[in-house]
Amino acid sequence: MKKVLVVGGGAAGMMAAYFAAKEGAQVTILEKNKLLGRKIRITGKGRCNVTNASDLETIIKNIYRNGNFMYSSLYSFTNDDLMDLFRSFGLDLKTERGNRVFPVSDRAIDVVRTMEKMLDSQGVKIKTGARVKSLIIDQARTEGLVLADGKKIFADKIILATGGKSYPLTGSTGDGYIMAQQCGHKVTSLYPSLIGMETIGEIKKELVGLNLRNISIGLYKNNKKIYDDFGELEFRDYGLDGPVIKSSSCYVDDFQKNNYRLMLDLKPALSSEKLDARILRDFDKYSKSSIEAGLKDLLPKRMIGYIIDRLAIDGKKPVHQVSKEERQDLLALIKGISFDIKRLRPMDEAIITEGGIEVKEVNPSTMESKIVKDLYFAGEILDVNGFTGGYNLQIAFSTGYLAGVSSAKND
Ligand SMILES: Cc1cc2nc3c(=O)[nH]c(=O)nc-3n(C[C@H](O)[C@H](O)[C@H](O)COP(=O)(O)OP(=O)(O)OC[C@H]3O[C@@H](n4cnc5c(N)ncnc54)[C@H](O)[C@@H]3O)c2cc1C
Repeated sequence: MKKVLVVGGGAAGMMAAYFAAKEGAQVTILEKNKLLGRKIRITGKGRCNVTNASDLETIIKNIYRNGNFMYSSLYSFTNDDLMDLFRSFGLDLKTERGNRVFPVSDRAIDVVRTMEKMLDSQGVKIKTGARVKSLIIDQARTEGLVLADGKKIFADKIILATGGKSYPLTGSTGDGYIMAQQCGHKVTSLYPSLIGMETIGEIKKELVGLNLRNISIGLYKNNKKIYDDFGELEFRDYGLDGPVIKSSSCYVDDFQKNNYRLMLDLKPALSSEKLDARILRDFDKYSKSSIEAGLKDLLPKRMIGYIIDRLAIDGKKPVHQVSKEERQDLLALIKGISFDIKRLRPMDEAIITEGGIEVKEVNPSTMESKIVKDLYFAGEILDVNGFTGGYNLQIAFSTGYLAGVSSAKND
């Protein structure tokens, strides 16, 4: 019977442990926290968006970094397989907007409990409070590992599923990257991702907390458009956040070398001509009122003050005195408010860590290292990242599955 050690009791580690045990291995999870799955507990704002119910090609398209590496694992353990597995252990699931899948209970903790039940069903041993310090490698094959207290544990196979570096309070402190590097693996540059952006110039107080829906953004790198998106945005005291900003953050890397600018279109559904006609209609309706009042049907109240400030016109000016040039400036601003981006928010706040173990050094059909025999990787530690929508957990579950099954096989 193969002895498999899984380092990290997050989404990937628990899935790997379950399948390795199911395939007949004797499995132990070593988790440095007192509890398993601490990050899962805070996912999806406490509701855990476990996966996405789209077809697999769509899922791969939403894995913006090294999606091709995921073919084998995703097709071996699909989103449907995951949902079937969870349901078979009593976790009811529902699909929401954008094919996002959540527990019916809306409680992320239920996902952790389900996974604990799965581990229990296969007799997986769990050692919590066990921080792994380093791996023991002999002649390019794993022998075992060393715990923080100096204790050594030997095994046939090791699965590194220590996650990324973001939200370190959940236990993901990047230990696995160091262990992998010590065995000769390359770790690509690490960046915070799926995160808010700090802007140059402060965000006006009246905008902080304002949530805009149905807007679109364009992200520019050195004046060249590199990404656009449609959806929701939120103003924060440091700058911008919300789903479209989080997705844009995946395309932002080196601020030393590049300038980034974000253009916000408040009315993407209206062409400039249609918007002009709409403004004229509204101004006609409120012809006896101020420009502030004339915009109240078109824009959220808090946005009106901001727009008027940026145009440097008097908000109390009667609508009928607004010149054509002023109206054109207004229109241009509604269709394109520009924000220069200073930097991304810190890693601590990132939903995921972009970058990780160089995937060329990992066999995509088994998750085994091509450098060190009997060493496997699963989850966010790999240089594979998806957008928000359940893709990152599916990456963790699918790679966890493959690492688990392959590690248990005789070779
Ligand atoms: C706020 C937030 C919300 C999110 N929401 C979603 C969502 O709704 N849907 C989605 O798909 N993704 C979401 N994500 C991303 C998703 O949670 C991660 O991609 C996923 O948890 C990665 O799983 P993992 O098992 O690879 O790593 P982790 O979940 O980070 O697990 C790694 C584990 O390894 C342990 N560990 C680390 N080092 C050691 C060591 N030296 N010794 C022993 N143990 C160690 C850690 O304590 C941790 O428990 C969210 C992330 C955050 C931060």
